[in-house]
Amino acid sequence: MRAEPPGAFLEVTDGEVSRAILRELERERNYINLIASENYAPLAILEAQGSIATNKYAEGYPSQRYYSGCEFVDEIESIAIGRAKLLFGCDHANVQPHSGTQANMAVYMAALEPGEKMMSMDLSCGGHLSHGLPSNFSGSIYRAVHYGLNPDTETIDYDAVWELAKEEQPKLIVAGASAYPRKIDFRRFKEIADSVGALLMVDMAHIAGLVAAGFHPDPVPYADFISSTTHKTLRGPRGGFILCKDGYRDAIDSAVFPGVQGGPLMHVIAAKAVCFKEAMSEDFRAYQQSVISNAKALAKKMSDEGFRIVSGGTDTHLFLVDLREVGITGREAEEALGSVGINVNKNNVPFDSTPPTIAGGIRIGTPAVTTRGMREEHMEVLGGLISRVLHNLGDEQVSREVKEEAEEFLSQFPLYPELGGVK
Ligand SMILES: *Cc1c(COP(=O)(O)O)cnc(C)c1O
Repeated sequence: MRAEPPGAFLEVTDGEVSRAILRELERERNYINLIASENYAPLAILEAQGSIATNKYAEGYPSQRYYSGCEFVDEIESIAIGRAKLLFGCDHANVQPHSGTQANMAVYMAALEPGEKMMSMDLSCGGHLSHGLPSNFSGSIYRAVHYGLNPDTETIDYDAVWELAKEEQPKLIVAGASAYPRKIDFRRFKEIADSVGALLMVDMAHIAGLVAAGFHPDPVPYADFISSTTHKTLRGPRGGFILCKDGYRDAIDSAVFPGVQGGPLMHVIAAKAVCFKEAMSEDFRAYQQSVISNAKALAKKMSDEGFRIVSGGTDTHLFLVDLREVGITGREAEEALGSVGINVNKNNVPFDSTPPTIAGGIRIGTPAVTTRGMREEHMEVLGGLISRVLHNLGDEQVSREVKEEAEEFLSQFPLYPELGGVK
């Protein structure tokens, strides 16, 4: 299927939605995106995701479907599964979860009975809502207990995790987070899990791209289950997947379908297959390396500008800035930066008693700006712009100047030029 200019058909059928999508394209083009969980999917992936494969019902798995006419979507899903296994070097892959949260839901269903106990990172220390937040299914169906961080180093205190595991005897231990800037020692987590007879699940939603490229310790040798998204550092379509050892294949497959989902999104699975192919390339490896060197460079610049970086820096694609000492809130920073064309998100920092809707800090990630072509020298500029806004909150003159400079700076990094659109 050929990519028409965006909305060629949509424009005729539904101008209202078409215009909103074009405005979203312009917004994506005009903002410096430092939201750590976002990225820009390549056009080939958008094309697969926007394809006619959306039309097909394919409940079940390749060659075992509950519908006829599945021969070609079987091919699509088999390619995606084969590539996921090759890319991550694992026994089995399920590529059907609609999202990271759905992937987690299926793993819990395979590993736990309702009411059983899981142990995961505290939300206020960087955990995800699907790791046991009371208002999420995970916290209402299962009993969740949480480990935190060492207050001095702001990194995972493995001995404390071990102590808590001995005390709580969880059936499942979850490693992985949404706002943790350091490498996670999965081998250590496995030793802890083994010592208390727990299963280990690694949620690599944020770091999947780094893992695929070999820049983060590999969870595959240690985890019983691995859940992930495809749309964060992995730079694929919005979706999820699960990896596991052979012994859990049937439990995972039946937890995904018919456990928590009906028909798989075959168009998204097609796009996931393309994503896994791209992730095997040398370009992708170089991209992930730049994502990390950019994050380190930007964290260093922010630190030089007088901001406290949680845990002193980063080993990954993201870092956290503690704004409590500067006397501004995460929400104020998010709004002020948004108004000059820079998107970050407010985030609690460890041991931060500020409510999450206000938050004591911001989370900054480099996957999206690196996709646009920014490199270390550009982080110097970017850090300077951010610092001027945050050190001069409420100063309209500074805001205007930074907004203009940010626009000028960003014009060196065109986004989706092939799509044309309103310019
Ligand atoms: C983003 C994320 C998820 C869930 O992703 P959705 O696709 O938004 O459901 C799960 N776990 C972690 C650690 C995440 O960061």
